[in-house]
Amino acid sequence: MRPNKLYMVIPCYNEEEVLPETARRLREKLTALMEAGTISPESRVLFVNDGSKDHTWEIIARLHQENPLFSGVCLSRNRGHQNALLAGLMTARERCDITISMDADLQDDIEAIDGFLKKYQEGCEVVYGVRSSRTTDTVFKRSTAQGFYKLMRLMGTPVIDNHADFRLMSRPALDALAQFGEVNLFLRGIVPMVGFKSGIVEYERHERFAGQSKYPLGKMLSFAFDGITSFSTMPIRLITLAGFGIFVVSLLALLIFLVQKLLGYTVQGWATLMGSIWLIGGLQLLALGILGEYIGKIYMEVKHRPRFVIERVLDDSPAGETLPA
Ligand code: UDP
Ligand code: MG
Repeated sequence: MRPNKLYMVIPCYNEEEVLPETARRLREKLTALMEAGTISPESRVLFVNDGSKDHTWEIIARLHQENPLFSGVCLSRNRGHQNALLAGLMTARERCDITISMDADLQDDIEAIDGFLKKYQEGCEVVYGVRSSRTTDTVFKRSTAQGFYKLMRLMGTPVIDNHADFRLMSRPALDALAQFGEVNLFLRGIVPMVGFKSGIVEYERHERFAGQSKYPLGKMLSFAFDGITSFSTMPIRLITLAGFGIFVVSLLALLIFLVQKLLGYTVQGWATLMGSIWLIGGLQLLALGILGEYIGKIYMEVKHRPRFVIERVLDDSPAGETLPA
């Protein structure tokens, strides 16, 4: 049987500090797997440069020159982790049997690749890397992440607990993913929706090897909110927040009015009147805001803008048909 051609897909944004080390470790791992005949000698490490402002692309280009094992995709500008990852997966799709996506900062455990490949051989088309512990995260990140997964499931999105974007996808799964054309891309929600037989591999998440997290609090919150980064829906979000604020204040006010009434301070009927005005006003704003959120989303989707623009591809293997972004 022909060994499978694997593409490791690594989105990189300002990762010059870690990239040489990531490349070194991946070369070691993939070379060993090739020698053992587990993967094809044509397998590649595909780095996606997500509009980095440092020397990330120069490093990728040099790696490619030195060793054809390393390939690169250069996006025309920064499009964010999810879009960069998608650009990599869609580029790899035309060239390989399986992809494994991984962060550039070595937080994901390279040794887990063995487990991924084993599950694939057992017939899984998608394999999710799941963190066995979150000890390397701050208490804040851990609890917000937990709350986020819970909220997502509550809203009906089948996310996998403690799974980031460290996962194996087979060619059929990638082909199915390519049919999901939404601009508001949230791969962790979409991949389970794609279906197929899936498996889980547990791994220990490490500290970031070097450099800073590219997900500061603000970015993390907005990612968790819905992934929309556009400025144009911001006013709508503010309306939602204002509505919610007024709603909470109205509840408090209602309580105060009630106490006042019980103590006999107020004119007859005043408490209920004021209370209901505040309450209804707040609720209306809240509802308007939520509606606005959805309209904002529709607005972004109907524009049908490309999710990424590929400026250059450095890869020696032949590509199949080219794909729309
Ligand atoms: N990343 C990217 N584009 C961005 C932000 C991040 O491609 O706009 C990449 C980054 O280089 C890394 C991965 O996404 O490989 C995860 O980012 P990071 O490690 O900063 O996130 P954290 O682990 O802190 O959540
Ligand atoms: Mg990281």
